[in-house]
Amino acid sequence: MDTQFLIDGEFTDGTETPEAILNPRTGETVLQLPEASLDQVDAAVSGARSAFAGWSRTTPGERSAALLRIADRIEAEAEGFAALEALNCGKPINAALGDEIPAIVDTWRYFAGAVRNMHGPLAGEYLQGFTSMIRRDAVGVIASVAPWNYPLMMMAWKLAPALAGGNTVVFKPSEQTPLTALKLARILAEELPKGVMNVLTGRGETVGSALVNHKGVDMISLTGDVATGKKMLQAAAKSVKRTHLELGGKAPVIVFDDADIGEVVEGLKAFGYYNAGQDCTAACRVYASKKTYDNLVADLTSAVSEIVFDQADDSLNEIGPLISSRQRDRVASFVERARELNHIEITTGGSVVGARGFYYAPTVVAGAQQKDEIVQREVFGPVVSVTPFDDVDEAVAWANDSDYGLASSVWTKDIGRAMETAARLRYGATWINTHFMLANEMPHGGLKASGYGKDMSMYALEDYTVARHIMLKH
Ligand code: NAD
Repeated sequence: MDTQFLIDGEFTDGTETPEAILNPRTGETVLQLPEASLDQVDAAVSGARSAFAGWSRTTPGERSAALLRIADRIEAEAEGFAALEALNCGKPINAALGDEIPAIVDTWRYFAGAVRNMHGPLAGEYLQGFTSMIRRDAVGVIASVAPWNYPLMMMAWKLAPALAGGNTVVFKPSEQTPLTALKLARILAEELPKGVMNVLTGRGETVGSALVNHKGVDMISLTGDVATGKKMLQAAAKSVKRTHLELGGKAPVIVFDDADIGEVVEGLKAFGYYNAGQDCTAACRVYASKKTYDNLVADLTSAVSEIVFDQADDSLNEIGPLISSRQRDRVASFVERARELNHIEITTGGSVVGARGFYYAPTVVAGAQQKDEIVQREVFGPVVSVTPFDDVDEAVAWANDSDYGLASSVWTKDIGRAMETAARLRYGATWINTHFMLANEMPHGGLKASGYGKDMSMYALEDYTVARHIMLKH
């Protein structure tokens, strides 16, 4: 197992307090990983700074070729990466290998192609006797900080556009899930010039904070919690760094009278509970028209009670455990507080399960009301609430009544109503008769407290580059 950091082209051990890296399926310690020292953070930033002049002047074709090689090597080692991700996150191996790795490889390949098609859009004579043109150039050194729910995928989303754009990067995975990042560091070191990519691990308040506050960093990229995002903005304000923030979510799902309830239930079972609900786009906040409400709750309850988890044969598992005992207990406390309300019924789940590991039963919370905590706050676990609504205005108002603005969905056979409702929703994405589906060509990112950085698509490449005006006097 790879445990060393990549700092300015060299592999080296962390020197500070060890962090226990756990297997969430058993709760056992996989290994102890010492975190980076402040000197190591310094060395990584300074390596990235030195590498910037060379890497930022390579051609898009050269950078594209490097990204394609990285994609090929991840694909060639798909099973090793998937096994490690499953071990460190508790993901079912089929999900890690079948769903995540192909999407990750595609992200690297997408940006390899996209950067060759990134144009400065203008060349013209806007003042007589002067020709203007636009270049898109790299921002500089990026401090890139990732969460624990999709470690290798978040790494691809953050690194592929940053590297394609000509930036150099210091990457810090979550202290809980560093193993695939350290494995990928070996490949990055072989496929990129010295110093272009640096990977080190450690806790947010120590290593993360030192990194994002470092004066040698030009831009901070975070996928994480809203509270962490605010700290990034404070760090950025000191030296006016750029920021790219992808924060939490609490996705509303509006189900109209004419929706196909079978498809809604199938969709909620898949997209509300995938990755044990530890997903910022999880379909977790359902608004069902009064006419569909009873059937939807009954069918959803029965479908969710059949979700397979905690089987010794992992190939059978549909979802895994939560990432940690802390996260499991946090999810449990949300459900316990909801259960105490007279109007709420927990129709399935609602308990910690399994003799070992961090499992929580897939849960349906019926009869939730708009003001309830379970409707308002991000649970980040296998818990879906269902709330009945009277009319479309009420549903849209409730859906938009959230601090978050990342993802949403609308379920109806009436295409006019679908488009009208989608237009009124204040979310970065709205799916119609589906949820959760992503394509590397399309942007992923939020409004409001969900942040404003775009991942995937040409918009991510724009976020990780700056438009520059070059003017020539004739
Ligand atoms: P987190 O904010 O606790 O941690 C994210 C990363 O930030 C970790 O690497 C952590 O070490 C680091 N960090 C924490 N404090 C820091 C500080 N003061 N300075 C620098 N770095 C610091 O989030 P998490 O618990 O790992 O992940 C779950 C959260 O991420 C959820 O809120 C979820 O919604 C969000 N998320 C959002 C998206 C999205 O695309 N919008 C995707 C995945 C996860």
